[in-house]
Amino acid sequence: MTTRDPAEEAAWLTAIRHAAGCPVCKSPGGVCSRGEWLLHAYEAIVRRSHHEEDEGQEERMRHRRPPVTERVALYVFRVARAGVALGVLAGLLVLTVALCVLGDPAP
Ligand SMILES: [Zn+2]
Repeated sequence: MTTRDPAEEAAWLTAIRHAAGCPVCKSPGGVCSRGEWLLHAYEAIVRRSHHEEDEGQEERMRHRRPPVTERVALYVFRVARAGVALGVLAGLLVLTVALCVLGDPAP
């Protein structure tokens, strides 16, 4: 099994926890500098730790291994953000339609 770098794990958890509790990160199209910074910090740690791994050990086996789990995790993170945004938009649309239907007198 791969052993995850504790710093990597901590950076990831920090980013995830921030996104989970940050209204800006969850808002549609919201650009949160702290959220982006946390993600970039995490990506930098991942890059650095894998680079060190390649340098410290036999290169030929490990070099080919792409950081799939990290990529998938980032993808899920972004999809989750987009999903929240879409959910809010869909909710607003339903609310608008409902208000129109309720507000208009029946024809
Ligand atoms: Zn945020």
